[in-house]
Amino acid sequence: MAVVRTITGKCKRCYTCVRNCPVKAISVEQGMAQVLEDFCVSCGTCVRFCNQKAKEVVTDVPQVKRAFVDNAEVVALLAPSFPASFHDCSPQQLIAALRVLGFTKVVEVAYGAELVGRESRRLLFNPKVPKPIIASPCPVVVFLIEKHFPHLLPHLAPVVSPMIAMGRYLRGNEHGTPATLVFIGPCIAKKQEIRDPNLAGVIDYALTFREVKEMLQERGLDPTRLNGVPFDPPHPGEGRIFPLMGGILKSGGIGTDILDRRVAIIEGHHETMEFLSTFEEHSPDQEFIDILFCRGCIDGVEIDTNLSHLQKTRKIQELVGESRHLNPSSLPEINLARRYENRKRQLVEPTDEQINLILTSFGKRSPEDQLNCGACGYKTCRDKARAVFHGFAEPEMCLPHIIRQLEESCTELKFSHEQLKKAQDELVHSEKLASLGQLSAGVAHELNNPLGGILLFSNILLDRTKKLQEGGVPEELDVIVKEATRCRNIVRGLLDFARQSKLQRAQVDLVALLREIVSLETRAAPPGLRAEETFDPQLPPCQLDPVQFRQALTNIIHNAIEAMPQGGVLTVSARQVPGTQQIEVVIGDTGVGIPEENLSKLFTPFYTTKGIGKGTGLGLAITYGIVKMHRGTIAVSSKPGQGTRFTILLPLESHAPETPIGFHGKF
Ligand code: ADP
Ligand code: MG
Repeated sequence: MAVVRTITGKCKRCYTCVRNCPVKAISVEQGMAQVLEDFCVSCGTCVRFCNQKAKEVVTDVPQVKRAFVDNAEVVALLAPSFPASFHDCSPQQLIAALRVLGFTKVVEVAYGAELVGRESRRLLFNPKVPKPIIASPCPVVVFLIEKHFPHLLPHLAPVVSPMIAMGRYLRGNEHGTPATLVFIGPCIAKKQEIRDPNLAGVIDYALTFREVKEMLQERGLDPTRLNGVPFDPPHPGEGRIFPLMGGILKSGGIGTDILDRRVAIIEGHHETMEFLSTFEEHSPDQEFIDILFCRGCIDGVEIDTNLSHLQKTRKIQELVGESRHLNPSSLPEINLARRYENRKRQLVEPTDEQINLILTSFGKRSPEDQLNCGACGYKTCRDKARAVFHGFAEPEMCLPHIIRQLEESCTELKFSHEQLKKAQDELVHSEKLASLGQLSAGVAHELNNPLGGILLFSNILLDRTKKLQEGGVPEELDVIVKEATRCRNIVRGLLDFARQSKLQRAQVDLVALLREIVSLETRAAPPGLRAEETFDPQLPPCQLDPVQFRQALTNIIHNAIEAMPQGGVLTVSARQVPGTQQIEVVIGDTGVGIPEENLSKLFTPFYTTKGIGKGTGLGLAITYGIVKMHRGTIAVSSKPGQGTRFTILLPLESHAPETPIGFHGKF
C-alpha cells in the first residue's frame, strides 16, 4: 500500500504532482491524479507541492492513541532533526510534553545513528566490501534504488537506518521488549520503511512532527509551559549531527574534507536523481557516497517549521554542542544487517510507430509541434506519449493542444453564430414579407375591381371627349387616366408580390430566358447602353417556375437599366459554380450605385428612391421572395458612382419541397 493517496474531489487537473514527482509515479485518469504504488518512492514531493491539499498521507495516530491506553509501555523514538521542528521549546520540555501525551519513554534515534555511523566506517575500511558504497539511512534513496535503479543494489550499504538500528537495539537489549515503538520524524517515507517486509516488526508506528504537534494541540498541551525532563537512555554523542548534510560521515568519523575525492555528499531531489541516473559515469572516483533525498533530514516534507535552512542547521548544531563525545568502542554490538530487493516493475516499451501515433492523437504531427513545454508534467512530448502508452497519462493533458482546440472551437462557434444571425435576419425578413404579402393581397383584392371600373370609365370618357372636342382634351382628364394607370401598376405589383406562394416548376433554359429579358428590356434603353452577356455553354437546364423567375430577373435588369440613365454597361452572366451543384446568375451595371447604408433596405417592400409615379419599391421584394422560394440566395454589392452587382445562387437539384415563405395571395 502506498503511504500517499489522492483525495478524490480535491484534485484539480493542475498536474503539479506529475511535474514534480521525480519518478513519475502518478497516473492521471479522467483528470484525477493517482499515486502508482509500484513506482512511488514515498518521497512526499507530491504532498509538498500540491496546492489543493489533495494528497493524503497514511496516519498511525489512532493506533498510537489506542496503544497509550492498551500498552504498558509506549516508547517515542525521536528523530535527531526534532530541534528544527520544535524550536520554540527546549528538548527537555518536548520530552515532558510527549510523556504527558502518553509516551512512557522518549529516546533519541541519534543513538541508532551512532551505531550506523560506526558500521558504515567498518564497511568503508573493509577491503572485501565492493566500492563505492552508497549510504542507506535515507529510505527514499533505498526505494529509488530498489524500484528504479536496481542495478545499483550491490552498492547500497547492507545496513539498516538509524531508526531500525534504534528499534533493534531497544528490542534486543530490553530482551525483546513488548513495548510499542513509535518513531517520530520529519519524513513520510519512514511510514513506508516500517512497513517494508524486510524490516517489519521492528518499529510499530511512524508519526511525523506535524502529527505530533496536532496531537499536542488536541490535548491543549503547550511544551513551553512544562518543566523539562531528560531523555531516557541510551544517550547519543555527536550522532545528533545526522540530519545535516554529511551527518553520517561525521558520526562515523569518516571525514568530510571537501578535498577528499573518495567521499561524496549528494543531497536534494535533483542531485539525487542526476547522480543515480549517471552513476556509472561518476562511480570510479568515490568509495563512500552519502545521499539524502532532501537537503538533509531537516528539509523533510513534514518538518513543519518556518525556520530557514540555516536556522534549522543552527538548531541542530546547538544540540550537538551540548553532546559529549562517545567512544565508538563503547557502543554495543547489534545486528545492523539488512536485505534489499529488486522491485523494479518492467514495462513493455512502445515502438516508434506507437509513440508517433499517440503524439498525433494530441496534435503533435511534426517535430515542430512538440513544444516540450512540460505543462503536462512530463519533460518532453515523447515522455508524455510513453506515459499515455502505459496508461499513466491522458492525451488531453496537453495544454497547448487544448488551447489550440479551444481556439478552433471559438472560431467555429463564431462562424456558426454569424450563420445563425444571418438565418435569423432572413427569417425576420421573410416573416415581414409574409405578413405584408397577406395585407397586400387583401388590399389589392379590394382595390382591383373599383380601380378597374375607374380606369375603364376614365378611358371611355377620354375617348368620348377626344371625339367631341377637336381642340384637345382637358388636362384634368389626362391626369385622371395617368394616375389611375399608376394605381393599377401598384396594385399589380402588390398582386405579384402576394402571389408567390406556389411554384410551378418546369425545365427552363436559363440562358434563353436571360437573353430574352435583356433584349426586351434594352429595347427602350438610353442610346449609350450596352449589354454584355457571358453564358456557360455547358449550363444544364434548370427546374424553375418560368413565369415567376422571369419576373424576378426582369425586376433586377429593369432596375439596372434605370440606374444608367446616361448609358453604361449591363453585364449578365450565368454559369454552374465549379465543383458544386449551384447555378450562379450575376447581373451587374455601371450605374449610380447604392450607398452602403441603403443596401440592407433594398429587399424591403415599398423601399424606393425613385420619384412618385416611377417606383413602387416592390420589385426587389418580389425578386427576393421568388429566389427564396427556389431555395436560392440573393446578394448585392455596390459602389456609389461605379455600379451594382446582384448575384443569385440557385441549387441545381430541387427535389426537396420548397418552403413557401408565407404569401397567401388569392389571385
Ligand atoms: P423600385 O425600382 O420600384 O424603386 P425596387 O424594389 O426594384 O423598387 O428597388 C428598390 C430600390 O433599390 C430602388 O428604388 C433603387 O434605389 C435601388 N436599386 C435597385 N437596383 C438598383 C441598381 N441596379 N442600381 C442602383 N440602385 C438600385
Ligand atoms: Mg424596380
